[in-house]
Amino acid sequence: MRTAIVCGAGGFIGGHLVERLKQEGYWVRGVDIKEHEYGNNKADDFVVGDLRDITICQMLFDRQIDEVYQLAADMGGAGYLFTGDNDAAVMHNSILINLNMLETSRLKKVKTIFYSSSACVYPEHNQMDPDNPKCAEDTVYPAAPDSEYGWEKLFSERLYLTYYKNYGINVRIGRFHNIFGPLGTWIGGKEKVPAAVCRKVAEAEDGGEIEIWGDGKQTRSFLYVTECVEAVRRLVNSEFVGPVNIGSEEMLSINDLVKMVAEIAGKKISIKHIPGPLGVRGRNSDNALIRERLDWAPSKPLAEGLKKTYKWINANVNELQNV
Ligand code: NAD
Repeated sequence: MRTAIVCGAGGFIGGHLVERLKQEGYWVRGVDIKEHEYGNNKADDFVVGDLRDITICQMLFDRQIDEVYQLAADMGGAGYLFTGDNDAAVMHNSILINLNMLETSRLKKVKTIFYSSSACVYPEHNQMDPDNPKCAEDTVYPAAPDSEYGWEKLFSERLYLTYYKNYGINVRIGRFHNIFGPLGTWIGGKEKVPAAVCRKVAEAEDGGEIEIWGDGKQTRSFLYVTECVEAVRRLVNSEFVGPVNIGSEEMLSINDLVKMVAEIAGKKISIKHIPGPLGVRGRNSDNALIRERLDWAPSKPLAEGLKKTYKWINANVNELQNV
């Protein structure tokens, strides 16, 4: 039986990844600083521990582990990552986790380690035009990410690649582009755009108004979480080291995202534009490399994933309102 550790298993993508590995017959140990918020814990063993502490990392390897999936990070949406208020914590915490898990994996002779990087590594100057952002993998240098979160991800990509080069660990790196879906943060300040929009629309009356940061003309693409997990598994099973984009090419403006969610909800919703942290003007995944190397592309349109996500968030909103 193959064995894996999923770091960040108490989080959104980590929880879904554990579920997928279990379906594939793996023995899985999950680890996170907290339990999964929405109970999505299918791991054979779940350790609540702080991966900034290397002795906790070492404790995870009391049996031979074949694969490590490093998804633990100090992260959130624009309201958490792009105000500047959390920069020191984001860099300090994520660097420690990344370094500790990588070094421990080397010492414990892990064969393969997956690292979850981000579209936030791409230079800001290539993402000024909302209709034509450039996010092909090889445009990352000369580096100029627009956030410290992006710089940390880029540094850690390089760190992981040195372990591949010098120690021969099978490193695999995916650059995630806005992953969304049920069982992820939807309230509290760390939620990302799709979840925030679903919550606001769910809370609004038919004919009501919701607030959106900026003019809403900024563009993004969003990938449903099970599609992301499929891409991660293909990458880990391949010979391809990466870094490679894992995202969708179905780009739309935030205003259009609101329209799509309102349609799903069957509500008429107007938008009030307010100042707020925005991130880059345009961003879209460029999937040429992943198509070529892994024969992977999202299998379903954005609206399908949004329907499932809205349904889940709407149920949570209703439950909260009835308390
Ligand atoms: P998440 O916040 O839901 O999951 C991250 C998990 O890491 C959390 O459960 C958190 O408790 C855990 N963690 C934080 N500090 C820890 C510590 N010191 N010790 C142990 N666990 C700790 O985020 P997610 O959306 O599931 O993202 C997973 C990974 O993918 C992250 O590395 C993130 O940066 C990356 N990523 C995500 C997206 C996205 O759109 N969701 C986009 C780009 C990159």
